Amino acid sequence: MTNSISTRLAVLGSGPAGYTAAIYAARAGLSPVLIQGIVPGGQLTTTTDVENYPGFRDVIQGPWLMEEMQAQAEHVGTKVVWDHITSVDLSRRPFRLTGDGGTSYFADALVIATGAQAKWLGLPSEEHMKGRGASACATCDGFFYRGKKVAVIGGGNTAVEEAIYMTNHSQDVTLIHRRDSLRAEKILQDRLFANPHVKIIWNAEVAEFLSGGMPEALTGLQLKDTQTGALSKIEVEGAFVAIGHSPATELFKDQLELDKDGYIQVETGTTRTTIPGVFACGDVMDKIYRQAVTAAGTGCMAALDAEKFLAAQEYEALAAE
Ligand code: NAP
Repeated sequence: MTNSISTRLAVLGSGPAGYTAAIYAARAGLSPVLIQGIVPGGQLTTTTDVENYPGFRDVIQGPWLMEEMQAQAEHVGTKVVWDHITSVDLSRRPFRLTGDGGTSYFADALVIATGAQAKWLGLPSEEHMKGRGASACATCDGFFYRGKKVAVIGGGNTAVEEAIYMTNHSQDVTLIHRRDSLRAEKILQDRLFANPHVKIIWNAEVAEFLSGGMPEALTGLQLKDTQTGALSKIEVEGAFVAIGHSPATELFKDQLELDKDGYIQVETGTTRTTIPGVFACGDVMDKIYRQAVTAAGTGCMAALDAEKFLAAQEYEALAAE
Protein backbone atom coordinates (compact mmCIF):
# COMPACT_ATOMS: atom_id res chain seq x y z
CA MET A 1 0.00 0.00 0.00
CA THR A 2 1.42 3.41 -0.91
CA ASN A 3 1.48 6.21 1.61
CA SER A 4 -0.20 9.53 1.22
CA ILE A 5 0.53 12.67 3.25
CA SER A 6 -1.55 15.85 2.97
CA THR A 7 -0.36 19.20 4.25
CA ARG A 8 -1.17 22.85 3.83
CA LEU A 9 2.47 23.61 3.06
CA ALA A 10 5.24 21.37 1.79
CA VAL A 11 8.83 22.57 1.84
CA LEU A 12 11.16 20.79 -0.52
CA GLY A 13 14.82 20.97 0.47
CA SER A 14 16.77 20.99 3.70
CA GLY A 15 19.38 23.73 3.42
CA PRO A 16 19.17 27.06 5.27
CA ALA A 17 16.39 28.25 2.93
CA GLY A 18 14.18 25.20 3.49
CA TYR A 19 14.63 25.04 7.25
CA THR A 20 14.06 28.77 7.68
CA ALA A 21 10.89 28.59 5.58
CA ALA A 22 9.72 25.67 7.74
CA ILE A 23 10.51 27.50 11.01
CA TYR A 24 8.49 30.55 9.97
CA ALA A 25 5.64 28.48 8.55
CA ALA A 26 5.44 26.28 11.65
CA ARG A 27 5.38 29.31 13.91
CA ALA A 28 2.53 30.67 11.77
CA GLY A 29 0.55 27.51 12.56
CA LEU A 30 0.82 25.94 9.10
CA SER A 31 2.22 22.59 10.34
CA PRO A 32 4.54 22.26 7.33
CA VAL A 33 6.00 19.03 6.04
CA LEU A 34 9.65 19.41 5.02
CA ILE A 35 11.01 16.83 2.62
CA GLN A 36 14.78 16.67 3.01
CA GLY A 37 15.98 15.21 -0.29
CA ILE A 38 19.03 13.07 -0.92
CA VAL A 39 21.52 15.28 0.99
CA PRO A 40 19.84 16.37 4.24
CA GLY A 41 21.30 19.73 5.22
CA GLY A 42 22.35 20.64 1.67
CA GLN A 43 25.64 22.24 0.67
CA LEU A 44 26.63 23.24 4.22
CA THR A 45 27.00 19.60 5.17
CA THR A 46 29.95 19.36 2.78
CA THR A 47 31.79 22.37 4.21
CA THR A 48 33.57 22.40 7.51
CA ASP A 49 34.35 25.75 9.14
CA VAL A 50 31.67 28.44 8.96
CA GLU A 51 32.72 31.83 10.19
CA ASN A 52 30.25 34.17 8.50
CA TYR A 53 26.87 32.99 9.78
CA PRO A 54 25.75 35.70 12.22
CA GLY A 55 25.29 34.90 15.87
CA PHE A 56 28.37 32.79 16.50
CA ARG A 57 31.59 34.39 17.73
CA ASP A 58 33.60 31.20 17.30
CA VAL A 59 34.02 29.15 14.13
CA ILE A 60 31.18 26.67 13.80
CA GLN A 61 30.84 23.56 11.67
CA GLY A 62 28.49 23.48 8.66
CA PRO A 63 26.95 20.05 9.49
CA TRP A 64 26.37 21.15 13.10
CA LEU A 65 24.61 24.34 11.94
CA MET A 66 22.28 22.30 9.77
CA GLU A 67 21.49 19.86 12.60
CA GLU A 68 20.58 22.84 14.76
CA MET A 69 18.32 24.27 12.04
CA GLN A 70 16.57 20.91 11.67
CA ALA A 71 16.12 20.60 15.43
CA GLN A 72 14.68 24.13 15.60
CA ALA A 73 12.30 23.45 12.70
CA GLU A 74 11.06 20.25 14.39
CA HIS A 75 10.84 21.93 17.78
CA VAL A 76 8.41 24.55 16.47
CA GLY A 77 6.20 21.99 14.73
CA THR A 78 7.64 20.95 11.37
CA LYS A 79 7.27 17.33 10.30
CA VAL A 80 10.63 16.48 8.71
CA VAL A 81 10.69 13.48 6.39
CA TRP A 82 13.55 11.95 4.49
CA ASP A 83 12.48 11.24 0.95
CA HIS A 84 13.72 11.77 -2.56
CA ILE A 85 11.06 13.35 -4.74
CA THR A 86 11.10 11.97 -8.26
CA SER A 87 8.09 13.72 -9.80
CA VAL A 88 6.01 16.78 -9.19
CA ASP A 89 2.62 17.78 -10.57
CA LEU A 90 2.03 21.50 -10.27
CA SER A 91 -0.82 21.60 -12.81
CA ARG A 92 -3.53 21.68 -10.13
CA ARG A 93 -3.94 22.24 -6.41
CA PRO A 94 -3.31 20.48 -4.17
CA PHE A 95 0.12 20.05 -5.75
CA ARG A 96 1.33 16.48 -5.81
CA LEU A 97 4.88 15.32 -5.13
CA THR A 98 5.87 11.69 -5.41
CA GLY A 99 8.78 10.12 -3.53
CA ASP A 100 10.91 7.28 -4.87
CA GLY A 101 9.37 4.90 -2.33
CA GLY A 102 5.94 5.71 -3.78
CA THR A 103 4.73 8.12 -1.07
CA SER A 104 2.50 10.91 -2.44
CA TYR A 105 2.54 14.32 -0.79
CA PHE A 106 -0.40 16.64 -1.42
CA ALA A 107 0.16 20.30 -0.57
CA ASP A 108 -1.99 23.42 -0.86
CA ALA A 109 1.19 25.46 -1.23
CA LEU A 110 4.78 24.52 -1.99
CA VAL A 111 8.10 26.13 -1.12
CA ILE A 112 10.94 24.97 -3.35
CA ALA A 113 14.34 25.17 -1.68
CA THR A 114 16.25 22.51 -3.58
CA GLY A 115 19.45 24.57 -3.87
CA ALA A 116 22.28 24.41 -6.35
CA GLN A 117 25.53 22.54 -6.65
CA ALA A 118 28.87 24.14 -7.44
CA LYS A 119 30.47 22.62 -10.50
CA TRP A 120 33.90 21.08 -10.03
CA LEU A 121 36.57 20.20 -12.55
CA GLY A 122 36.23 16.49 -11.78
CA LEU A 123 39.88 15.67 -11.09
CA PRO A 124 40.64 13.00 -8.45
CA SER A 125 43.30 15.29 -6.90
CA GLU A 126 40.71 18.09 -6.66
CA GLU A 127 38.33 15.75 -4.85
CA HIS A 128 41.15 14.73 -2.52
CA MET A 129 42.01 18.36 -1.65
CA LYS A 130 38.44 19.62 -1.03
CA GLY A 131 38.48 21.38 2.33
CA ARG A 132 42.31 21.28 2.35
CA GLY A 133 43.00 24.03 -0.15
CA ALA A 134 40.42 23.37 -2.90
CA SER A 135 37.19 25.31 -2.47
CA ALA A 136 34.24 26.32 -4.63
CA CYS A 137 33.39 29.47 -2.68
CA ALA A 138 35.84 32.30 -2.07
CA THR A 139 33.26 34.34 -0.15
CA CYS A 140 32.86 31.42 2.28
CA ASP A 141 36.46 30.22 2.59
CA GLY A 142 38.66 33.07 1.35
CA PHE A 143 39.29 34.40 4.84
CA PHE A 144 41.19 31.22 5.72
CA TYR A 145 43.78 32.08 3.05
CA ARG A 146 44.69 35.60 4.12
CA GLY A 147 48.24 36.55 3.22
CA LYS A 148 48.65 33.41 1.08
CA LYS A 149 49.04 32.87 -2.67
CA VAL A 150 45.76 31.75 -4.20
CA ALA A 151 44.29 30.92 -7.60
CA VAL A 152 40.78 31.27 -8.98
CA ILE A 153 39.75 29.06 -11.89
CA GLY A 154 37.16 30.24 -14.43
CA GLY A 155 36.36 33.18 -16.67
CA GLY A 156 32.75 34.12 -15.86
CA ASN A 157 31.29 36.73 -13.50
CA THR A 158 31.73 34.48 -10.48
CA ALA A 159 35.41 33.82 -11.14
CA VAL A 160 36.17 37.49 -11.74
CA GLU A 161 34.23 38.59 -8.66
CA GLU A 162 35.94 35.94 -6.56
CA ALA A 163 39.40 36.95 -7.83
CA ILE A 164 38.68 40.59 -6.97
CA TYR A 165 37.21 39.57 -3.61
CA MET A 166 40.31 37.53 -2.79
CA THR A 167 42.50 40.62 -3.11
CA ASN A 168 40.94 41.70 0.20
CA HIS A 169 42.87 38.81 1.74
CA SER A 170 45.85 38.25 -0.53
CA GLN A 171 48.20 40.36 -2.61
CA ASP A 172 48.94 37.43 -4.89
CA VAL A 173 45.86 36.19 -6.74
CA THR A 174 46.08 34.34 -10.06
CA LEU A 175 43.09 33.87 -12.30
CA ILE A 176 43.40 30.81 -14.53
CA HIS A 177 41.18 30.67 -17.59
CA ARG A 178 41.01 28.07 -20.35
CA ARG A 179 40.61 30.61 -23.16
CA ASP A 180 42.18 33.97 -24.07
CA SER A 181 39.13 36.11 -23.25
CA LEU A 182 36.76 36.30 -20.33
CA ARG A 183 33.04 35.64 -20.37
CA ALA A 184 32.46 38.06 -17.46
CA GLU A 185 30.73 41.42 -17.93
CA LYS A 186 32.98 44.21 -19.22
CA ILE A 187 32.70 46.31 -16.07
CA LEU A 188 33.98 43.39 -13.99
CA GLN A 189 36.76 42.72 -16.48
CA ASP A 190 37.84 46.38 -16.30
CA ARG A 191 37.99 46.16 -12.50
CA LEU A 192 39.95 42.94 -12.67
CA PHE A 193 42.50 44.26 -15.19
CA ALA A 194 42.97 47.40 -13.07
CA ASN A 195 43.66 45.42 -9.89
CA PRO A 196 47.43 45.26 -9.26
CA HIS A 197 47.13 42.15 -7.10
CA VAL A 198 45.65 39.90 -9.81
CA LYS A 199 47.67 38.08 -12.47
CA ILE A 200 45.95 36.18 -15.26
CA ILE A 201 47.12 32.97 -16.86
CA TRP A 202 45.32 32.58 -20.19
CA ASN A 203 44.74 29.40 -22.18
CA ALA A 204 45.39 27.10 -19.26
CA GLU A 205 43.49 24.36 -17.54
CA VAL A 206 44.26 22.70 -14.24
CA ALA A 207 45.71 19.22 -14.78
CA GLU A 208 46.30 18.41 -11.11
CA PHE A 209 46.04 19.76 -7.57
CA LEU A 210 49.44 19.32 -5.93
CA SER A 211 49.80 18.71 -2.22
CA GLY A 212 52.28 17.88 0.48
CA GLY A 213 53.16 18.31 4.14
CA MET A 214 51.64 16.99 7.32
CA PRO A 215 48.77 17.69 7.72
CA GLU A 216 48.46 17.50 3.97
CA ALA A 217 47.76 20.84 2.32
CA LEU A 218 47.61 22.28 -1.17
CA THR A 219 51.02 23.37 -2.44
CA GLY A 220 50.25 24.26 -6.05
CA LEU A 221 48.58 23.45 -9.34
CA GLN A 222 49.88 21.73 -12.40
CA LEU A 223 48.62 23.58 -15.47
CA LYS A 224 48.27 22.47 -19.04
CA ASP A 225 48.41 25.01 -21.86
CA THR A 226 45.21 24.49 -23.87
CA GLN A 227 46.97 25.44 -27.12
CA THR A 228 50.36 23.77 -26.87
CA GLY A 229 49.71 21.08 -24.27
CA ALA A 230 52.81 22.28 -22.34
CA LEU A 231 52.75 21.59 -18.61
CA SER A 232 53.75 24.12 -15.95
CA LYS A 233 53.33 24.62 -12.20
CA ILE A 234 52.27 27.46 -9.98
CA GLU A 235 52.59 27.58 -6.22
CA VAL A 236 49.34 28.35 -4.37
CA GLU A 237 47.91 27.40 -1.01
CA GLY A 238 44.28 27.98 -1.99
CA ALA A 239 42.48 27.25 -5.27
CA PHE A 240 38.92 28.41 -5.85
CA VAL A 241 37.04 26.63 -8.60
CA ALA A 242 34.50 29.11 -10.00
CA ILE A 243 33.19 27.49 -13.15
CA GLY A 244 29.47 27.83 -12.47
CA HIS A 245 26.67 26.22 -10.51
CA SER A 246 23.84 23.85 -11.42
CA PRO A 247 20.51 24.67 -9.79
CA ALA A 248 18.46 21.62 -8.80
CA THR A 249 15.49 22.37 -11.05
CA GLU A 250 15.23 19.25 -13.18
CA LEU A 251 11.90 18.33 -11.52
CA PHE A 252 10.31 21.65 -12.43
CA LYS A 253 11.72 22.47 -15.85
CA ASP A 254 8.53 21.85 -17.83
CA GLN A 255 6.24 23.42 -15.23
CA LEU A 256 7.85 26.59 -13.91
CA GLU A 257 9.58 29.39 -15.76
CA LEU A 258 13.34 29.08 -15.44
CA ASP A 259 15.98 31.56 -16.62
CA LYS A 260 18.60 30.72 -19.25
CA ASP A 261 20.86 29.16 -16.61
CA GLY A 262 18.05 26.98 -15.18
CA TYR A 263 17.30 29.03 -12.04
CA ILE A 264 13.65 29.42 -11.01
CA GLN A 265 12.28 32.83 -11.97
CA VAL A 266 10.54 34.72 -9.20
CA GLU A 267 8.65 37.99 -9.26
CA THR A 268 11.13 40.69 -8.26
CA GLY A 269 11.17 41.36 -4.53
CA THR A 270 9.12 38.24 -3.74
CA THR A 271 9.52 34.46 -3.83
CA ARG A 272 6.45 33.98 -6.06
CA THR A 273 7.05 31.76 -9.08
CA THR A 274 4.96 31.67 -12.25
CA ILE A 275 2.49 29.27 -10.55
CA PRO A 276 0.31 30.75 -7.77
CA GLY A 277 0.96 28.86 -4.55
CA VAL A 278 4.48 27.79 -5.55
CA PHE A 279 7.35 29.75 -4.00
CA ALA A 280 11.11 29.45 -4.47
CA CYS A 281 13.91 30.47 -2.15
CA GLY A 282 17.64 30.03 -1.66
CA ASP A 283 20.20 29.07 -4.27
CA VAL A 284 17.62 27.52 -6.58
CA MET A 285 16.47 31.07 -7.43
CA ASP A 286 19.56 33.12 -6.52
CA LYS A 287 22.64 32.89 -8.67
CA ILE A 288 24.26 36.03 -7.37
CA TYR A 289 24.58 35.94 -3.56
CA ARG A 290 24.40 32.18 -2.79
CA GLN A 291 25.16 32.52 0.92
CA ALA A 292 23.65 30.56 3.81
CA VAL A 293 22.38 33.77 5.34
CA THR A 294 20.80 35.07 2.13
CA ALA A 295 19.22 31.64 1.56
CA ALA A 296 17.80 31.77 5.08
CA GLY A 297 16.50 35.29 4.36
CA THR A 298 14.66 34.23 1.22
CA GLY A 299 13.38 31.14 3.09
CA CYS A 300 11.72 33.49 5.56
CA MET A 301 10.25 35.48 2.65
CA ALA A 302 8.87 32.29 1.07
CA ALA A 303 7.10 31.29 4.29
CA LEU A 304 5.55 34.75 4.63
CA ASP A 305 4.48 34.73 0.96
CA ALA A 306 3.00 31.22 1.35
CA GLU A 307 1.16 32.17 4.53
CA LYS A 308 -0.37 35.17 2.78
CA PHE A 309 -1.37 33.01 -0.19
CA LEU A 310 -3.03 30.36 1.99
CA ALA A 311 -4.87 33.00 4.02
CA ALA A 312 -6.24 34.56 0.82
CA GLN A 313 -7.36 31.09 -0.40
CA GLU A 314 -9.17 30.46 2.86
CA TYR A 315 -10.84 33.84 2.76
CA GLU A 316 -12.04 33.23 -0.81
CA ALA A 317 -13.37 29.77 0.16
CA LEU A 318 -15.26 31.23 3.11
CA ALA A 319 -16.67 34.07 1.00
CA ALA A 320 -17.90 31.53 -1.59
CA GLU A 321 -19.83 29.49 1.03
P1 NAP B 1 29.45 30.99 -16.14
O1 NAP B 1 29.04 32.34 -16.62
O2 NAP B 1 28.82 29.79 -16.74
O3 NAP B 1 31.03 30.91 -16.37
C1 NAP B 1 31.71 29.73 -16.08
C2 NAP B 1 33.18 29.94 -16.46
O4 NAP B 1 33.89 28.77 -16.11
C3 NAP B 1 33.39 30.19 -17.94
O5 NAP B 1 34.38 31.17 -18.13
C4 NAP B 1 33.86 28.84 -18.46
O6 NAP B 1 34.80 28.92 -19.49
C5 NAP B 1 34.56 28.27 -17.25
N1 NAP B 1 34.46 26.82 -17.23
C6 NAP B 1 33.35 26.05 -17.30
N2 NAP B 1 33.65 24.75 -17.21
C7 NAP B 1 35.01 24.71 -17.10
C8 NAP B 1 35.94 23.65 -16.98
N3 NAP B 1 35.55 22.37 -16.95
N4 NAP B 1 37.25 23.95 -16.91
C9 NAP B 1 37.67 25.24 -16.92
N5 NAP B 1 36.83 26.30 -17.01
C10 NAP B 1 35.52 26.02 -17.11
O7 NAP B 1 29.28 30.81 -14.56
P2 NAP B 1 29.25 31.94 -13.41
O8 NAP B 1 30.39 32.86 -13.57
O9 NAP B 1 29.11 31.20 -12.14
O10 NAP B 1 27.91 32.71 -13.69
C11 NAP B 1 26.66 32.01 -13.79
C12 NAP B 1 25.53 32.99 -14.05
O11 NAP B 1 25.38 33.82 -12.88
C13 NAP B 1 25.80 33.93 -15.21
O12 NAP B 1 24.58 34.21 -15.85
C14 NAP B 1 26.35 35.16 -14.54
O13 NAP B 1 26.13 36.35 -15.29
C15 NAP B 1 25.54 35.17 -13.23
N6 NAP B 1 26.27 35.88 -12.17
C16 NAP B 1 26.04 37.20 -12.02
C17 NAP B 1 26.73 37.91 -11.07
C18 NAP B 1 26.45 39.37 -10.93
O14 NAP B 1 25.57 39.88 -11.62
N7 NAP B 1 27.16 40.07 -10.07
C19 NAP B 1 27.67 37.27 -10.26
C20 NAP B 1 27.89 35.92 -10.43
C21 NAP B 1 27.20 35.23 -11.41
P3 NAP B 1 34.38 29.44 -20.96
O15 NAP B 1 34.23 30.92 -20.83
O16 NAP B 1 35.54 29.01 -21.78
O17 NAP B 1 33.11 28.73 -21.29
